[in-house]
Amino acid sequence: MGDIDCSSSNVSYAYQCYFCNKQYVDETSTSLRIRANGHRFPIERKHRLSSLYTHLKVHADNSSLPDYNRPSLGDYILMSIEQIHSSVSDWQDRINRLK
Ligand SMILES: [Zn+2]
Repeated sequence: MGDIDCSSSNVSYAYQCYFCNKQYVDETSTSLRIRANGHRFPIERKHRLSSLYTHLKVHADNSSLPDYNRPSLGDYILMSIEQIHSSVSDWQDRINRLK
């Protein structure tokens, strides 16, 4: 894990569902903090296009969680973070140079 923290950029990460351990894997070229905010608001606003929210909704609709009506990013465990050494844009640069 090394020096990676919430201000690191070009990292891959996974949000593991607190309820069922399913993982949502993504990567970001911006800092983790900014990316996390990008996930947090759609979940709290129950945005249908947020895959993190629609996943939580499955649990909300489950009768085993009758009082579940406040989805939040805290329902996921952030894990498996690693630095991405060659981003897509780096590869594009290299390909362009080869032409
Ligand atoms: Zn789940």
